[in-house]
Amino acid sequence: MIPFNKPYITKKEVCYINDAVALGHISGNGKYTKLCHKYFEEKYNFKKALLTTSCTDALEMCAMLAQIEDKDEVIVPSYTFVSTALAFIRQGAKIIFCDSREDHPGMNEDLIESLITKKTKAIIPVHYAGISCNMERILEIANKYNLLVIEDAAQSIGNYYINNEGEKKLLGTLGNLSAFSFHETKNIQSGEGGLLGINDDRYINRAEILWEKGTNRAVFFRGEVDKYGWVDIGSSFLPSEIIAAFLWAQLEEIESIQSRRITIWDMYNKGLQDLAEQNLVRLPYIPSYSTNNGHMYYLICQSLEQRTRLIEFLRQKGIYSAFHYQSLHKSDYYRKYYNGGELYYSNFYSQTLVRLPLFYELTDDQVSFIIKAVKEFFFNK
Ligand SMILES: *Cc1c(COP(=O)(O)O)cnc(C)c1O
Repeated sequence: MIPFNKPYITKKEVCYINDAVALGHISGNGKYTKLCHKYFEEKYNFKKALLTTSCTDALEMCAMLAQIEDKDEVIVPSYTFVSTALAFIRQGAKIIFCDSREDHPGMNEDLIESLITKKTKAIIPVHYAGISCNMERILEIANKYNLLVIEDAAQSIGNYYINNEGEKKLLGTLGNLSAFSFHETKNIQSGEGGLLGINDDRYINRAEILWEKGTNRAVFFRGEVDKYGWVDIGSSFLPSEIIAAFLWAQLEEIESIQSRRITIWDMYNKGLQDLAEQNLVRLPYIPSYSTNNGHMYYLICQSLEQRTRLIEFLRQKGIYSAFHYQSLHKSDYYRKYYNGGELYYSNFYSQTLVRLPLFYELTDDQVSFIIKAVKEFFFNK
């Protein structure tokens, strides 16, 4: 069987975990947390980076930092993971769902302006499949209406937005705040894990406090105050050194992990090109303003019925493929609160998008085998 995902282990994880244990500092913010923070602060030029126990946690910190309160509105794509909306709901926000693009499952930037009201506080772009949203367009709207931009960069580690001047900007560095995931289904993983990236000075001090259960522990340890205590809300957002040590092993190999994933992505894309040319299936679209980090390879089928048959056909050949999100505005939880219009493309991708296996250890032979099976399905039906 070819699984849909297999989390990659560099084998250094256990060495670093052993080291963390030997050092005797196993709670958070020790040697390995600091190494990870330094990596992100240097590579991404964040004003501050803070590891969290998940991307969901990092998004919750964003919602707290943005001081989202009762009935404030945030604009979120409907075609995304639950957490993108959930983190803001917990602060009392009303979620205004935005439809996907016709050419891409990411949010349709052209619709955002029509969703803005006096109560809008923030726009939450999700870089679906790691592929960048049109960030200049989103930032322009945010500036015009004085809104925050919080990037859900869960899938987009190491990927870039290319601006109008042709400069590459790392995703997660364009909004006021950003959230990354190191869940085992992501390119770089620690089982569960996440990161808050801060690009806006205003949030640095408070973020440190929220991260450490509402205490000013961080400034105390820097010697900036003579006692520490409870100063704000917060939670225990910081992961233990065990997680950070695991993640550090992965970050050390990020270049080779990303490069192998992109090679697999390119093999799929080349191998399936003739299906697209004959309009039998749609392949992923990458806008000219985005690079690719090989996070996900997906196909767009013609109907739910065809997608169901494809998944079953592949399974019979020993290949596990997977569909993805269901529109959040139609979810059991949110549909009773939702009073916006139907979101055609979000519903469309909910029914037609299918993801093929993509993980570091997938071999060239396996990729060829999967391509052959997909072709057999579309050419014979
Ligand atoms: C994976 C993912 C999340 C959640 O990440 P966790 O680390 O599991 O909390 C949030 N948003 C998107 C777009 C994701 O893909």
